[in-house]
Amino acid sequence: MRPGATEYDVEVAIDDEAIESLLAVTPEDVTRPSELTFARNVFIPLTTACRYTCTYCTYFDPPGQASLLSLEEVREICRDGAEAGCTEALFTFGDDPDDRYTEIHSQLDDWGYDSIHTYLRAACEVALEEGLLPHANPGDQTREQMAAVADRNASMGVMLESTADVDAHAGPRQKEPSQRLQTIKNAGELDVAFTTGILVGIGETWRDRAESLLSIAALHDRYDHIQEVIVQPVVQNERWTDGSPDLETMRRVTAMARVALPEAVSVQVPPNLAPARDLIDCGVDDLGGVSPVTDDHINPDYAWPAVRELEEIAEKAELPLSERLPVYERFLPAELRTDQFDGVAADGTDCDGDRDWISPAIRSALTADDAAGDRYRTVLETGRSDG
Ligand code: SF4
Repeated sequence: MRPGATEYDVEVAIDDEAIESLLAVTPEDVTRPSELTFARNVFIPLTTACRYTCTYCTYFDPPGQASLLSLEEVREICRDGAEAGCTEALFTFGDDPDDRYTEIHSQLDDWGYDSIHTYLRAACEVALEEGLLPHANPGDQTREQMAAVADRNASMGVMLESTADVDAHAGPRQKEPSQRLQTIKNAGELDVAFTTGILVGIGETWRDRAESLLSIAALHDRYDHIQEVIVQPVVQNERWTDGSPDLETMRRVTAMARVALPEAVSVQVPPNLAPARDLIDCGVDDLGGVSPVTDDHINPDYAWPAVRELEEIAEKAELPLSERLPVYERFLPAELRTDQFDGVAADGTDCDGDRDWISPAIRSALTADDAAGDRYRTVLETGRSDG
């Protein structure tokens, strides 16, 4: 831990033997998936203010330039997304805007919100009203912050990126990896179906990659709450010129992710950033969210593929492709699962588990007798992937 960094109470002990064993994994050690999935979303950059300055990131804007979408803008994006057949409102953030972002704080104050999280809650409610299921990725969150928004989200996420202290997280404000582990732990304690992932190529070692994947697996083992793990390469952009990991690296680390995680946890690569068609045989079974409406605001130089391109990836891999909701089916209560559901409930018991992964608000949306409810149930029941 860096001098002055905050210590977070996350006890994740990874033994050397597990690390060595994972480091020995090659793509030949994994089996191909039986199908590929994806979700259809709109990308909503609620704020580009961030208290950190990661050197590979073009998402954050400095104080004075950072944006904060109004609820009217959020509504318009969601409405377009629902009309285009999307099911997910992906809310992205920088981490909590700190006190340098006076404009953001005074704007929130003018609108009657005391924090970015109370504002996020209102934005999630707008998404639900417009017929999309919120999936918020608001960076590090304390347990209180997450609890303030969890019941308005179908699932949530944060990239662990790495358990290592890397220079790419340095700069005037340093992101502390254990904060990310704490956020993942908070999600487990609050019964939030959760997405996380690793960022490959930011200065971490192979051992760091193994330790990061095993840390996610250990937290999942404790809480059963991880639905998917993204294996994402860092990519060139105006702030990052140190290159991207090569294909051999991506193949090996993807295979390591598949071996480190239980089968119920999907391994995802983003097809606009990674060579997805060359990674399927390394254990990838999910192609993430694609948007027919909005840009990838985190990687604006890398356009989303059309659903047709995902179909081509699936055809080449000779695998069926189906659409999913932002929350995976195994987290739904038994009465909302389809006849085709053949997995294990998220609590690891059976389909009658009693943990409340789905809040009353999300359950109402999923069961509503309206166009959005129909759209959610159609995706669940048919895995619709009409481009
Ligand atoms: S990667 Fe995330 S935490 Fe780092 S600067 Fe960008 S938005 Fe902030």
